[in-house]
Amino acid sequence: EQQDGLSKLVMDTQCPFCSVQCKMQIIEERETGKRPVYTVNPTPNAASEGRLCIKGMNAYQHALTGERLLHPMMKKDGQFIRISWEEAYSLIERKFTALQGQYGKDSVGVYGGGSLTNESAYLLGKFTRIALRSKYIDYNGRFCMSAAASAGNKAFGMDRGLTNQLADIELAKCIVLAGTNIAECQPTLMPYFTRAKEKGAYIIAIDPRETGTTRMADLHLCVKPGMDASLANGMLKVLLDEGLIDEGFVQQRTKGFAELKAHLEELDLDAIAELTGVPVKLIRQAALAYGKASTGMVFTARGVEQQTDGYMAVRNFLNLVLLTGKIGKPGSGYGAVTGQGNGQGGREHGQKADQLPGYRLIENAEDRAYVANVWGIDPSELPEKGVSAYEMMEKVHEQEIRGLFVMGSNPIVSNPNANFVEEGLRKLDFLVVADMLMSETAQLADLILPATAYLENEGTLTNLEGRVLLRQSSRPAPGEAKHDWEILCEIAEKLGKGKYFGFSSAESIFEELRLASRGGIADYYGITYDRLRKEEGVYWPCPAPDHPGAKRLFESTFAHEDGKAEMIPVQNHLPKEQVSADYPLYLTTGRVLTQYLTGVQTRRSHSLAARDVESFMEIHPRTAKKYRVEDAALVKLESVRGTIFVRCRYSSDIREDTVFVPMHWGDTQNVNKITNQALDPTCRMPGFKVCAVKVSPFAIE
Ligand code: SF4
Repeated sequence: EQQDGLSKLVMDTQCPFCSVQCKMQIIEERETGKRPVYTVNPTPNAASEGRLCIKGMNAYQHALTGERLLHPMMKKDGQFIRISWEEAYSLIERKFTALQGQYGKDSVGVYGGGSLTNESAYLLGKFTRIALRSKYIDYNGRFCMSAAASAGNKAFGMDRGLTNQLADIELAKCIVLAGTNIAECQPTLMPYFTRAKEKGAYIIAIDPRETGTTRMADLHLCVKPGMDASLANGMLKVLLDEGLIDEGFVQQRTKGFAELKAHLEELDLDAIAELTGVPVKLIRQAALAYGKASTGMVFTARGVEQQTDGYMAVRNFLNLVLLTGKIGKPGSGYGAVTGQGNGQGGREHGQKADQLPGYRLIENAEDRAYVANVWGIDPSELPEKGVSAYEMMEKVHEQEIRGLFVMGSNPIVSNPNANFVEEGLRKLDFLVVADMLMSETAQLADLILPATAYLENEGTLTNLEGRVLLRQSSRPAPGEAKHDWEILCEIAEKLGKGKYFGFSSAESIFEELRLASRGGIADYYGITYDRLRKEEGVYWPCPAPDHPGAKRLFESTFAHEDGKAEMIPVQNHLPKEQVSADYPLYLTTGRVLTQYLTGVQTRRSHSLAARDVESFMEIHPRTAKKYRVEDAALVKLESVRGTIFVRCRYSSDIREDTVFVPMHWGDTQNVNKITNQALDPTCRMPGFKVCAVKVSPFAIE
């Protein structure tokens, strides 16, 4: 809209900063010769109910910053110089072709992100398998959802973040929040829980720290880092001993009860209390509240999942759900609270090493044949399964991967053992980064490709409920930035594979995604852009255009062939890294309210950055005294892998044996320089949430 030197642009969009995908309207008003003025209004919709948190209110700032990458840039003599897209594509074609000619197809890998749209995630998987013919693709969602995803797939036969719609939360009479700090990570969800409380729900929060979420709860179990699976064992034992199990449900709809029962009978509650740091009385209180409630929901997030036994830890919380039959009903279910903007959709369409679109498996012959047919290739042309995100970084370090294409991700900050990762990335023969801003990883690149931001890039995202939403775009791309999907199609064309990438819009990619996912677990076939323009999102699985979408899963059957869910015994065991005389404290990591992922975007939002200008270490004052570190002073924090320097923040909200550092900063404040790279044996999740550290006052040596 333009009138008398005034112009107005109205942008209807979604906040990109978490899995709720709150709707909002951003109004940009420009008057000649003056700075533009922005107004942000929440838009009522079914998920966010018209709320926005501080991140959403300021989410326009990073996208409109003058720091956006505007042109392709090549590194020459240590400096980035502007080049044309044609030069950039020719360089990629020359370098990747030469590397693959010399070292084989798998010498080039691809690293994606959980904030990409469904269309970009889908296309990135197809690009790797068809245009590059490489088996190496994985993404940062490995660090986000892999434990919960594997656990859901094994226990229920299907992984969807929430088995129920958000509206079910207020119908629950007991809610377990395990390792999730919703108050800071998904703030607009809090009213769902406070409403449940008002209606009589009893809320239990499990966390080594006191947070806004634990303060909202009725009971806080201040567990030792890494001991969540054992705590769930304690609750399961109480349920069994007290006969608080749903025998009919267990008999008709589950398998594995006999083994679980035998295991639980062997356990000793006092020993569990010792292991977990949670008194028997509180374990009993939590178990009785959940077991006696008529309805209940259990939620897990990174606190439980980012552990070297994260898969088993989540399985044990699913045991709680199944043993009590609290699933598949209004107010009863399970939810893995996704962090990234498209954490759900990003893990469904093939940017994971073991996966093809629609949650099909790359190792399954039928799945390979189906997707190969949609793509118009022979199944034998599809590469085999690759390795997980951190293992890809190991392959980079070993120089088995010599060229890397990174899209919408910042692996140098988000991977554990970040010094090792940086060392590996510096060894690459050719590193390409497609991003909207100069990330720490982009600074190391040989070639940077400027990508569009969420205000410019149309596409679908799947929120934490499994609800597919269409995000429209209103702004033209700045400079020469291109959409992720355009970049992938144009590189594929250059590599001689253009006939498989003849897409003209995000919608045309979605049309192929629908077919590729048809009949798979994450079945999007019945979802179309037309439907998404008219409806408030559509839940998957949605197998036909006239299907309403599945708001609540597992009402009468689970997704395994026999229709039954699986319970398994989970052993009590300690995290792989233990404290010692040299490293006497546990470190746990997490998020803060104002920041998102590695902070590349939120650190460039001036309003958000002003609230949290730097990282910090939260420490109990008694612990701080012992190690002679002062409040607000800089401290040195070390593990066997490295050292960081952060500001000390006294807080009696944290266990005395534990310190906490957020994950949003790079360089000397990058907490992942010291986190543990040991991987969960099933889902390959690193043990971010527990490692052994020592703290000392900062001193110039
Ligand atoms: Fe909503 Fe999450 Fe954005 Fe906050 S960060 S406005 S909760 S989508």
